[in-house]
Amino acid sequence: MLNEDCGVFGIYNNDNLDIVEETYLALLSLQHRGQAGAGLAVNKDGEIKCLKDVGLVSEALNQKNLEKLPEGNIAIGHVRNVRYDLTDPNIDRAAAQPLVIRYINGSLSIAHNGSLTNVVELKKELELGGAIFQAGCDAEIISYIVASQRLISATIEEAVEKTMNKLKGAFSVVMMSPSKLIGMRDTNGFRPLCIGKLKNSYILTSESCAIESLGGKFVRDVKPGEIVVVDDEGFHSYMNNCKEKTSMCVFEYVYFARPDSVLDGISVYQTRRKAGAILAKECPAEADIVCGVPDSGIPAAMGYSVESGIPYEIAFIKNKYTGRLFIQQEGKIRDRTKKIKLNVLSANVKGKRVVVVDDSIIRGTTSANIIKMLKDAGAREVHLRVASPPLSNVCYYGTDIKDKDKLIAAAKSLKEIEKQIGADSIGYLSFDGLKKTVEDSQVGVCTGCFTGEYPAEFSKKIAVDRYSEKLSY
Ligand code: 5GP
Ligand code: MG
Repeated sequence: MLNEDCGVFGIYNNDNLDIVEETYLALLSLQHRGQAGAGLAVNKDGEIKCLKDVGLVSEALNQKNLEKLPEGNIAIGHVRNVRYDLTDPNIDRAAAQPLVIRYINGSLSIAHNGSLTNVVELKKELELGGAIFQAGCDAEIISYIVASQRLISATIEEAVEKTMNKLKGAFSVVMMSPSKLIGMRDTNGFRPLCIGKLKNSYILTSESCAIESLGGKFVRDVKPGEIVVVDDEGFHSYMNNCKEKTSMCVFEYVYFARPDSVLDGISVYQTRRKAGAILAKECPAEADIVCGVPDSGIPAAMGYSVESGIPYEIAFIKNKYTGRLFIQQEGKIRDRTKKIKLNVLSANVKGKRVVVVDDSIIRGTTSANIIKMLKDAGAREVHLRVASPPLSNVCYYGTDIKDKDKLIAAAKSLKEIEKQIGADSIGYLSFDGLKKTVEDSQVGVCTGCFTGEYPAEFSKKIAVDRYSEKLSY
């Protein structure tokens, strides 16, 4: 349902690292940010080779093909969550990233996370100038602009800076020119991007968990509006585009990011745990156990349990070994997959009054399912607690919350939701509570999906085209 968030990674080799292997391993650590496609591109003396496909990292990038890639000095990678059209795998393949383009100054490769809000205007302008597009993704527009700006700029840095000024909306980008690894984060900082080091080699990536998984050290976050460049002279930072007002996506903390990541100065796990503790104060319940919906509801459930004094119990066992079972179609197959992936540990819930904590409710289908499972397993009462506020607005900045009609909190009152999902009671974290969970962040937060107030420009017309009529732009 919400699935435009992606993961990016890049590494500049200053040691004798096998950067194809490092990038592959990093993408495995970013797998939670996208399961629809994966790819990596490696640069050996300006020559870029790329491998990418649909599916999980382990499906898209097979060992045999990886071994054929050259040992290079720069590599970038991408995991992707967006599926433009589930019924046409070819469209999926064309939009897979990293993209590699070849132009008069050499090759350029790019991996993007986010969503441009002015992509319709940009595309039209470029097409009227003769551009032809194939992939149908924002990364293609960005790379086209970088390449064309490069032709009229003295340096790639200048070209990237000019590109940044043309783009609106959300973009955390990792790219490589023939000799440089480059990262940029939009001025709001909607999507995360951070810097790490593995021995003497620099890393740019969406989440710190990827750096640590490689045995590297987190250095710092890329600042909203910052451009960073790594080349044979070292690390460079350009902050001409940085602005005072920043707004990192709060949903990264609620759901997208991995709990062992630290984003813009705060631990994702801690925000979730804090959300659970505040929720326990705001929405208490009389119950025998607290449990969390795996995986993203667990830290908040722990927080709820400690704060309320109600014992924490495991109520669900998630099957981690199945991989992807079927393409997630609506209907019967999908329902059966759900049961294979998640089962109730009946002995812990039978006859009990259960508080079940989840990170968020989008359409409400997961909650309804979870509650039915608990009741079928003999739970006497089920009290649903949600570790974020009612989500009732679309997102324009790189998640796929696009259809207001499908958002249960947009149309229904608390009582109606409670009834529809079959809970004995329901309680959401307050908006103030949510703000408290991220009060120590080094940047501001975007809470547009909860409030309907958007911190950066967007075009209503584009929103309709792009999200309701399902055009690729
Ligand atoms: P619902 O069934 O209400 O539409 O979805 C709520 C559930 O989906 C929650 O358990 C939450 O953890 C999860 N969720 C929230 N955002 C996303 C997303 O972008 N992708 C996926 N696959 N699940 C999500
Ligand atoms: Mg969940």
